[in-house]
Amino acid sequence: MNSKLQNITILGATGSIGTSTLNVLRLHLDKYKIYAVSGKSQITKLFDICKEFNPIFAVVLDITSQEKLQNLITNYNAENNNSNEKITTKILFGNDALCQIAMDKNVDVVMAALVGAAGLQPTLAAAEVGKKILLANKEVLVMAGELFMQTVRKHKAILLPVDSEHNAIFQSLPKGFKCGFDDLENIDNNKIENGIKQILLTASGGPFLHKDIHDLQNVSVEQACNHPNWKMGKKVSIDSATMMNKCLEIIEAFWLFGINDLLKNDDSYEQILAKITNYIKVIIHPQSVVHSGVQYVDGSVIMQLSQPNMQVPISYCLSYPNRFASDIDFLDFFKYNNLQFIQPNTQKFPCIKLAYEALAIRNFAGNILNAANEISINYFINKQIKFTEIYTINSQVLNYYKQNANILNQQFTNNTSDDNLQNLESILNADKWARSKAEEFIQILN
Ligand code: NDP
Ligand code: MG
Repeated sequence: MNSKLQNITILGATGSIGTSTLNVLRLHLDKYKIYAVSGKSQITKLFDICKEFNPIFAVVLDITSQEKLQNLITNYNAENNNSNEKITTKILFGNDALCQIAMDKNVDVVMAALVGAAGLQPTLAAAEVGKKILLANKEVLVMAGELFMQTVRKHKAILLPVDSEHNAIFQSLPKGFKCGFDDLENIDNNKIENGIKQILLTASGGPFLHKDIHDLQNVSVEQACNHPNWKMGKKVSIDSATMMNKCLEIIEAFWLFGINDLLKNDDSYEQILAKITNYIKVIIHPQSVVHSGVQYVDGSVIMQLSQPNMQVPISYCLSYPNRFASDIDFLDFFKYNNLQFIQPNTQKFPCIKLAYEALAIRNFAGNILNAANEISINYFINKQIKFTEIYTINSQVLNYYKQNANILNQQFTNNTSDDNLQNLESILNADKWARSKAEEFIQILN
C-alpha cells in the first residue's frame, strides 16, 4: 500500500453523501485509498463500489446481506481470470463491524454518512481513537452532543462538518477554529476576542415554502421528498420539508461551535432560549446559493457561496486545510439576479422552535426529540400519520420529557449521579424510551 495515501472509511458509502464522497474521491485517488465502506439495503451498489475500489473491508447489516454480497463477489472473481482485477474485500456485518472499520488502526479519516441514530456508536468509536471525522450524520450531535464533543476533545480527534450550512459557518469563522476545542467567544484557547456576534444559519425552506398552511396536512411522501435544490436521502428530505432539518441543524451548530460554553449552569429555561435565539439566527434563502456564515460585531458578514451540491463541502473536508477540485460547475453569478432572504414562518413550520426548546430543556432533550422524529417520520412514510402530525408527535414527546425530566433522567441513568448523566448507556436508554413514547402518542392520535 502506498504510504502517502490516506486511508478512508466511508460509513454509509451507498447513500447520497456516500455517493458524493466517492465522486470527489475518484478525482483524488493519488491522495486517498478507500479502505472500508458500508451499506445496508443497496447490496448491488455496494458490490459495484467493491468492484471499482477493492476496499479492504465492506460492512453490511446482517448475515443474509453478507452472503448476498459474498456471492456477488465470488461469482465475479470466478468469471475474472485476471488476478489484478479480483475483488479481495473482506465482508463483515453488524454494528460491531461498523465500529471496527471506524476504529481500525490503519484508518486516517472516517466519513460519517450513516443516517439517524444508527451512526451514533461507530462515529463515537472513531472519536474514541482520535480519528479525523468528516461528520455528515448530524443526528450524532443531536443525540449525544455533549458526550461526542467531550470524546473528540479527550482523544484529540479532528472534527470537520460536512453539512453544507455548518461547513459554510466553519469556512466563515476565524482561521484555525477547531470544532470541539474552541468556542465562538474565545477562539484558539488563548481567549482572543474575535468579535463574533451571531451565526447565520440559512435554510432553503424545503418543497413547501410557499404552500398554504392548510394544505400541508395532506401532502404525500413523494411531495415531501421532492426537494427543489438538493438531491438527498429520504429521511433528510422529509426533515427538510417539515423544517425539522433546521431544528436538528440548530442543535448541531450549538455543539459544533461551542455555543454550549455561553450557557451558565444556573441559566433559566427562558435565559437559555433568549441566548440561543440571539446567537443562532435562521434565515430562509430559497435559492440555496448562500450557505450560512457568521455576523461579526463590526457589521461584517462572512458567508460561503457555491452551487447547491454536497461535493463542495465534502471536498473542503477532504482537502482541509488546503483545497482541491470537487468536479462541480462554478457559480454563474449572472444566473442569480434574485437571491432572497426571508424571515422563517414558525407558525407554518413550528419544528424550528423545537430546537431552542430542546436546548433550553437540556440533558436528554435533543436525544429524545431526535428519536421521536425518527419514529414519526417512519409512520409518515408508511402513511400511518399525516405530514403535520410529525410536529405534533415530536412536540408531545419533548413536552412529556420536559414535565417529567427529573424522574426520567434517573430512569435513564439507573439512578446514578448527575455527573454521569450523558454516557452511551443512558443515551441509548433515553432513545429507547422516546421511541416507545412516540408510538404511544401515535396510537392515541389514531
Ligand atoms: P441516505 O439515506 O442516502 O444514506 C444513508 C446511508 O446509511 C446508506 O449507505 C444506507 O445504506 C446506510 N444506512 C441506513 N440505515 C442504516 C442502518 N440502520 N445501519 C447501517 N447503515 C444504514 O442518507 P444521506 O446520505 O442523505 O444522509 C446521511 C446523513 O447526512 C444524514 O444524517 C443526513 O441528515 C446528513 N446530510 C445529508 C445531506 C444530503 O445532501 N444527502 C446534506 C447534509 C447532511 P443503504 O442505502 O445501502 O440502505
Ligand atoms: Mg444542511
